[in-house]
Amino acid sequence: MIEDTIAAISTPIGEGGISIIRISGSDAIKIVSGIFKSKRNVDLKNVKSHTVHYGFIYDAENDEICDEVLVNVMKSPHTYTKEDVVEINCHGGYIPSKRTLELVLKNGARLAEPGEFTKRAFLNGRLDISQAEAVIDIIRSKTDLSNKYALMQLNGSVKEKITKIKNGLVALIAHIFALMDFPEEDVELLNDGELIDGINNSIREIDEILKTSEKGRIVREGLNTAIIGKPNVGKSSLLNALLNENRAIVTDVPGTTRDIIEEHLSIKGIPINLIDTAGIRQTDEIVEKIGVERSREAINKADLIIFVFDNSRPIEKDDYDILKLIENKKVLYILNKIDLPSAIDIDEVDRLSGGRYVRLSSVTKEGLETLENTVYNMVLSDGLSHDEFLLTNMRHKDALIKAKGSLMSCLKTIESGLTEDFVSIDLNSAIDHLGLITGETANEDLINEIFERFCVGK
Ligand code: GDP
Repeated sequence: MIEDTIAAISTPIGEGGISIIRISGSDAIKIVSGIFKSKRNVDLKNVKSHTVHYGFIYDAENDEICDEVLVNVMKSPHTYTKEDVVEINCHGGYIPSKRTLELVLKNGARLAEPGEFTKRAFLNGRLDISQAEAVIDIIRSKTDLSNKYALMQLNGSVKEKITKIKNGLVALIAHIFALMDFPEEDVELLNDGELIDGINNSIREIDEILKTSEKGRIVREGLNTAIIGKPNVGKSSLLNALLNENRAIVTDVPGTTRDIIEEHLSIKGIPINLIDTAGIRQTDEIVEKIGVERSREAINKADLIIFVFDNSRPIEKDDYDILKLIENKKVLYILNKIDLPSAIDIDEVDRLSGGRYVRLSSVTKEGLETLENTVYNMVLSDGLSHDEFLLTNMRHKDALIKAKGSLMSCLKTIESGLTEDFVSIDLNSAIDHLGLITGETANEDLINEIFERFCVGK
């Protein structure tokens, strides 16, 4: 049982329309009623749940009105944290919100840690861990598509699938215990169709989910993309043409290295992280000046390379050198500057690109849409159906791979003729790995690590 009441400013600090101070815990209503003067003499302690009240925040010690506010009172259990929650809407701005928060803290609340409201929602059983992680994905989503998948996860898409597999495994353990209760029947586990089919079924279900994780990773984290080519082929012009139409609004995430990933755009909903654009922008001679090493680094990190040929110049040694660097990568070939007279050996472009290249002019924008469609099709192959499931979180993927490993070793255990005890150990280990996704088996360190990534007030 969580005892104390927490408070934080839940809106960004700075000037704005309103600032919201959120308070959660058993004393939330009492604390706010101690600093709130209602315009209509309403006592917050007696109001109905989910009602809004107009009045002032009052500093009794200095006999001073701090701000004019609206107060939302939401009583347990139908709240974000399942506890009593009060939200004070003050005027947006640093001073009103800071003074109000100070008064709330003086009256008995404790300053919330990052993510602590959502952590309470988890600890109080309103969300599982996968849903709590979806909350932060919603806040950080870079495109409509990533937002859509985070919302699906918040609504329980991951929880549902994992719980189903877990329940299947729990039923198998119950089945094994039942066998152990009747040892005289001496059933051979290897011939136990229910057990073997059950395990294989769960492995299949896990594989189905894992199959979606590559698309899912890209939808959540973005497609790492590098535009590569010799100097003056039009890399920065192409970058600017793409950015003009597709720049994604992304807020800084603490801890990401800004000097490596410089630009974010959205191509038909797919978040694109353009790698090393600083290098591309600052120099005309990318390979020479920033060094092959650095381009190699960018190339290594990239899920997709956009390689640019220059239609107005012949293919040169530089082109071949760079093409060598990207031999093993997924490459989208571009023939840029098609608005200029052609001086390139088209047959050679055809040969080098395997006949698949997009004709483009970064100046007239001809071909830009084809480029975008090609990126979309390369990444999502056959696209995405309306409510197709994707596993977007790589922590979940890792846990699923481990759960599958336990199930495979379970099959081996059965094959090698070991007893029910050993089989149930493997099954339990699979259940434990799945429990890391939903949270039942997550230890305190993992839980803290997840919630530390949140901002204060969420
Ligand atoms: P980078 O060194 O590969 O980044 O090349 P830039 O983007 O700086 O382009 C080199 C030169 O080619 C600049 O003068 C651009 O204006 C020009 N350029 C780039 N793309 C096109 C294009 O599609 N058509 C024409 N006509 N000029 C282009």
